[in-house]
Amino acid sequence: MRAAYFIAVTVLLSLISFVVSTAAPVAVALLWALAVGGVAVLFVKLISHTTDAASDIAPMLMAGVVVGAGGSLKWFTNASTLGWWDAAGVLVALGSAWAVDVFAAGRGKRVCFICKLALEERVPFACPRCHQVICTRPSCWIARRFRCRYCDEREVIVFPIDERWWASRLGPRVREGSCNSCYKEAGEADLRACGRCRWTLCRRCWDYHNGQCTHCGWIVPNPPAALRPFLGASEPFDTGRGESDARRRR
Ligand SMILES: [Zn+2]
Ligand SMILES: [Zn+2]
Ligand SMILES: [Zn+2]
Ligand SMILES: [Zn+2]
Repeated sequence: MRAAYFIAVTVLLSLISFVVSTAAPVAVALLWALAVGGVAVLFVKLISHTTDAASDIAPMLMAGVVVGAGGSLKWFTNASTLGWWDAAGVLVALGSAWAVDVFAAGRGKRVCFICKLALEERVPFACPRCHQVICTRPSCWIARRFRCRYCDEREVIVFPIDERWWASRLGPRVREGSCNSCYKEAGEADLRACGRCRWTLCRRCWDYHNGQCTHCGWIVPNPPAALRPFLGASEPFDTGRGESDARRRR
C-alpha cells in the first residue's frame, strides 16, 4: 500500500469532513460519515495489493481518522455546531467501513474447487474439462496434462462426441491397425489418424492427450476453445510417454 496516497487522501477527506459537519445539518453529517466508510474501503482496495495484511484495518483507520479529524478541527475552531453527533459520526464511519469491507470480502473471495484454499492468482483460471476454478498446486492441477486432479482421476473428456467434429479435423474412422497409445484394435475403438504422420490413436486417446499426436506432436486443428490457452504453451513432446500412459490406463 502506498502510504503517501493514503495520508494525502485522508487529509483531504478530513478537511471535507470538517466543512460538511460544520455547515450541514446533523443528519447530513451522519450520512457523510456513512459514506466515508464506503469510500475508505474502495480507496484502500484501489491502492493496495491483495496480499497486504495492513489493508484489513486500513479502511477503518482511514474512516475513523477522517471523521474524527473533522470533529477535532471543529473543536479547535470553536465551531458552534460541535456536539455529541461528532462522536457518533466516528462510530458510524468505523461501522460503515467494517460492514462494507466484510461485504466486499465475502463477494470477492474465490477458492479452489478442489482444496478450497483461497486463490492467490490475479487471474483465476478454469480447468478446460470441468470448467471449475482450480489453483496451481500440484495436488490440484496436473499441469503436464492440462487438467485438474478430479478430471484426471475420472477421465473426463473435453472433445465433443459429434462425428462431424472428428471427421472434419481428423478424417474418417480408420478401419485397420490399432491405437498406438492404448493398443485397442480398429474393431473395438474408433481410430483416427494424425494429420501429419498418419499415426493412429483412438478417440479416447486423442482426447486424453489433448488432441496432440503422441508420435510427432501435431495438434488437432481448431481444438475446443477451453484447451487453446494451454496448447499454445505446450512443452516439447517426448516420445516415451505414450507407452507409460497405456500401462497406466489398463
Ligand atoms: Zn487447489
Ligand atoms: Zn477439471
Ligand atoms: Zn487409444
Ligand atoms: Zn503425428
